[in-house]
Amino acid sequence: MPKPTTPFDPVASLAAAKHTFGEHGGVNMSIEASTTYTVLHASVMPEIFAGQRSPDHGGCYLYARHYNPTVYTLGRELAALEGAEAGYCAASGMGAISAALLQLVDSGDHIVSSAAIYGGTHALLADMWPKKTGVHTTFVPIDDLAAVEAAFTPKTKVLFTESLSNPTLVVANLPALADIAHRHGATLVVDNTFTPVLISPLQHGADVVVHSLTKFINGASDLVAGAIVGKADFIAQLMDLHTGALMLHGPTMDPKAAFEVSMRLPHLPLRMVEHSRRAQLFAQRLLEMGAPVRYPGLATHPDHALMRSLLNDDYGFGGMLTLDLGTRERAYRFMDLLQNEHRFGFMAVSLGYAESLMSCSASSTSSELDDDALRAAGISPGLVRISIGYTGAIEDRWRQLEDAVKVVGHPVQPPAVV
Ligand SMILES: *Cc1c(COP(=O)(O)O)cnc(C)c1O
Repeated sequence: MPKPTTPFDPVASLAAAKHTFGEHGGVNMSIEASTTYTVLHASVMPEIFAGQRSPDHGGCYLYARHYNPTVYTLGRELAALEGAEAGYCAASGMGAISAALLQLVDSGDHIVSSAAIYGGTHALLADMWPKKTGVHTTFVPIDDLAAVEAAFTPKTKVLFTESLSNPTLVVANLPALADIAHRHGATLVVDNTFTPVLISPLQHGADVVVHSLTKFINGASDLVAGAIVGKADFIAQLMDLHTGALMLHGPTMDPKAAFEVSMRLPHLPLRMVEHSRRAQLFAQRLLEMGAPVRYPGLATHPDHALMRSLLNDDYGFGGMLTLDLGTRERAYRFMDLLQNEHRFGFMAVSLGYAESLMSCSASSTSSELDDDALRAAGISPGLVRISIGYTGAIEDRWRQLEDAVKVVGHPVQPPAVV
């Protein structure tokens, strides 16, 4: 799909959806804590069960594992952010991903997935579902479009990818992937956790977007949450009282968590700009030092031009960069030094926090992958993933990072890719 002539503006779209007020005229929405809701006439209740009435049809609520008004408002805000018709939330990113995918497959169906995905999603598709559901997944390098296409079978219902892969930072060619999926009658599902605001996958042909709100979107590393956005009928299917994966598996978001996330959405674009600005500066300087840095905002990144073609204007290339220090021992010394002596950031999994977070992917968030899968995904034992934060003076942070790289050393930078 070509870029629309009027570019989609996630911030304008979100602002329009945000312009609501609370029950008593408060400038914030109210938190609706009720788990159950009255109907004015007994005849309305069966209509809700039959799916004829809902928040959008008659303003009807039933029970808080079904729609809750506060969670529903956050779902609408996230839908606006992604330019989707509708959205709803889940208690975690994995709750959202597993529900969205399960809704699209039946026993015996097939999924084609990027090989370089979040460890939990990989475990779900590779280890759990083949036995539990009879749904099998073929993992492919997502930048090899011929391999993606060749993996399709008549049973393939879903093509799954992350917009920017974890932790290898491979950019998904969303228009090309959407084209492949749609030619085979499959749905393109994109995990946009690494690039909220920066990339709007639905504008490039994706059908469904899932998020771990736990990361950049909430941004405070203080709650776990997820969301699914897409077509209104797909969201309605997820909430169906008889067959909906969000309704029946019950990964229900607490309305208090929904309120917290909603309060942090207005500064999400500001945070993304600053994550990007710092990551871009550090990546450029690391490159100048000859360090093996990978960041999509560098001209040396093989997907730099592709990422530029997918980006919304003005938010940069994101806050994630990796450094391949060659060996696990060097990676550990690097992180020990940065946390315990320089106080540059924390050794912790997760991402999108105000502080920088560092982890050695092969022995942490990607340890669900076995050695072959790690090799296939391009995750080496010395790969350090850093989510660049925005606290502290930027030049102080740079000196800390530069010193740690100099002290531990690194393998010679692989030749630059054009
Ligand atoms: C963290 C993460 C998830 C899982 O999200 P939770 O909120 O921890 O369940 C899924 N995808 C990506 C890319 C992630 O980083």
